[in-house]
Amino acid sequence: MSAPTPAMFIADATGLDFLNSIATPVNATVDWIDNGEGLLDWLEQAGLVPSDVLAAMRGGAMPGELDALAGQARDLREWFRGFVLANKGQALTAASLHQLDRLNALLARDEGFGRVVARESGVIGFERVRRWTSPESLLLPVGEAMAKLVSEEDFSYVKACEGPTCTLLFADHTRGHVRRWCSMSACGNRAKQLAHRQRARVT
Ligand SMILES: [Zn+2]
Repeated sequence: MSAPTPAMFIADATGLDFLNSIATPVNATVDWIDNGEGLLDWLEQAGLVPSDVLAAMRGGAMPGELDALAGQARDLREWFRGFVLANKGQALTAASLHQLDRLNALLARDEGFGRVVARESGVIGFERVRRWTSPESLLLPVGEAMAKLVSEEDFSYVKACEGPTCTLLFADHTRGHVRRWCSMSACGNRAKQLAHRQRARVT
């Protein structure tokens, strides 16, 4: 079943948005990457793979190939969730590196190259290009987002939403690191209403 609602990008870090590609926005759990089409959609919404590449993959894939890829993506997601949940709340150190072998195995499959190109401003620029040789290559930018998360993000401020049944994760970039909720309109509001009701009961 494909997801009826747009995917959530509330994490402020793509590596965490990937973990949030399964969530329970209202009452029912939605997995945005529960099949091949869902995965391609999510990659497009996340801005990780150009639309023309996705269209070519859609057209060229063997039956079942993209669904199998979505299975790999979910597997990767749940493995990485284990790492993030075990390590969030404190600064990451190289001591955790051995737990990331699986990520390095993924990144090692990249076949990128560099090229010089014309920029819109009329100057010459340099860019990295990815060879999208197989459906598996669609997972490479996801791996890169994870690599950025573990190398650039302060894990002290990688947090889980405090909503009692919420599973969403985010990087708290607020001043003073005061963010507690996936979003104020969802869990933040529910908590406020609950506190209000509790106060009303006391008086
Ligand atoms: Zn929440």
